[in-house]
Amino acid sequence: MTGRTPGPASARGPLRSIVIVGGGTAGWMAATLLARRLERQPVKITVIDSSAIGTVGVGEATVPGIRDFFREIGVTEQEVMAATQGTVKLGIEFVDWKREGERFFHPFGLYGMRSRGVAFHHYWRKMNVAGHASPLADFCLATALAERNLFMPPTDRPVHDLLFFDWAVHFDAGLFARFLAQKAIAWGVEHIDATITDVRVDGRTGFISGVDTSCGKAIDGDLFVDCSGFRSLLLGGALGVPYEDWTNLLPCDRAVAMPCTRSGPLTPYTRSTALEAGWQWRIPLQHRVGNGYVYSSRHISDDEAVATLKRRLEGEGLGEPNMIRFRTGRRTAFWQGNCVALGLAAGFMEPLESTSITLIQTGIEKLLALLPDRGFDPALAEEYNRTTGLEYERIRDFLLLHYFANVRRGEPMWDRCRDTALPEALAHKLRLFKARGHLVRYEWESFQDPSWLSMYAGFGIDAAAHDPGADHFSIPALESAFARMKESIAQAVALAQPHDAFLGLSARHP
Ligand code: FAD
Repeated sequence: MTGRTPGPASARGPLRSIVIVGGGTAGWMAATLLARRLERQPVKITVIDSSAIGTVGVGEATVPGIRDFFREIGVTEQEVMAATQGTVKLGIEFVDWKREGERFFHPFGLYGMRSRGVAFHHYWRKMNVAGHASPLADFCLATALAERNLFMPPTDRPVHDLLFFDWAVHFDAGLFARFLAQKAIAWGVEHIDATITDVRVDGRTGFISGVDTSCGKAIDGDLFVDCSGFRSLLLGGALGVPYEDWTNLLPCDRAVAMPCTRSGPLTPYTRSTALEAGWQWRIPLQHRVGNGYVYSSRHISDDEAVATLKRRLEGEGLGEPNMIRFRTGRRTAFWQGNCVALGLAAGFMEPLESTSITLIQTGIEKLLALLPDRGFDPALAEEYNRTTGLEYERIRDFLLLHYFANVRRGEPMWDRCRDTALPEALAHKLRLFKARGHLVRYEWESFQDPSWLSMYAGFGIDAAAHDPGADHFSIPALESAFARMKESIAQAVALAQPHDAFLGLSARHP
């Protein structure tokens, strides 16, 4: 065998080598961020992937945290969007989720202004009950921009809450991985294109000592990062860490993806449309539109799902349908021995709120914070598993709310979703909101108050009472305050530019 990297894995020694298995979004995000942060340390980083196997080929929408990742690796949003045919994402439009014909927007931004320590939505409820409020969405700048296909980068220090919003990007996943690979390789990461044929596990320690590849190279390492996708070659396969199945909570188990040519304006948001047996995503990119139908195989056949998606495309279909099977859930441990799994190898929840890439990012950040640079103290893995488990559960509950709150009566999948027995943490949140509009925030919550609020408002989940602090102001005083807020939003909107123009594109359709 040739090219062996130094030394067997040790529970105690210094960290000298990191082997990343997989060159999809997870593998290259890990490679770039680790290379960047460990640039002054004598740690060799190797990425092994297999062009014969390829990547999952989807994963185009992100959440605003991705921009922190860009900053961390020293690139700008503009650079990324230029390299990946990217666009701006101000949030997600949910169509037909509550019932057919209704839509709402989940913005990356705040609603209204707090006053006297009382959140805006309490004042809004007071006005709404008195018959004086327009929809909550009218008090959110991100929503106002999205509705008009406008964008402007938010100011770093807005004068007040009303002008605060955040944004994420959509990108071509293949181009994003290539962009990151070029950076990582330039920063000294070794890339090996080969199929792993065997994973060697030390029977005494339970640690992975190395992997063997189709090109005859055996690669040893101290820390292994499993980014091998749904195969979970190292954590699930070689180490046998079981999978916890959440299909009882989130019913979809398959997806078909098919991009199409672009038509119509370039929208600065993702659209999610509820369908009979799941939902359809629409992700606008500069060169095409990403589409997919995420569905429950118990409620629709593959053929019907493909036909439905094709029928609903707004442009000409590009290529063959990409059929993907998945099982919602997570590995019971994300870090075992000297192996940490990221991305699909760690677990998967449907892309309803674009949370997989953000989980990769926070996974790398946590790994860096707990880096076993002086050996594998079990406390490090314990903390990683504890916090990542919480993060998965909080996201799962947020996704579950989308299904549970529907009132699409007469469709078997949706009817069943309304009967789901909720995990207690989510049931508690719902009880508190319904009782007096109180928003609960747990540890490792990816989605903050405005996101929950957008769901409650969008699905028509009302609070029985508001915070008594909201009664400090009379209805006429609130009426004029609300009018001023709307005026501020209108003034901000007037300064924005068309999304196409922000991207440096002609506003004409291709
Ligand atoms: P993959 O892309 O599958 O990469 C696996 C890598 O492992 C490949 O490089 C492969 O070659 C390599 N490999 C596997 N076996 C071997 C072997 N034996 N030897 C060598 N190499 C090997 N996430 C979002 O955040 N937003 C979205 O909008 C979104 N949409 C999605 C839609 C669907 C239908 C699905 C299924 C997922 C979606 N995701 C989304 C999730 C997102 O696609 C993934 O989190 C992301 O692409 C990371 O994938 P990965 O790198 O873990 O796996």
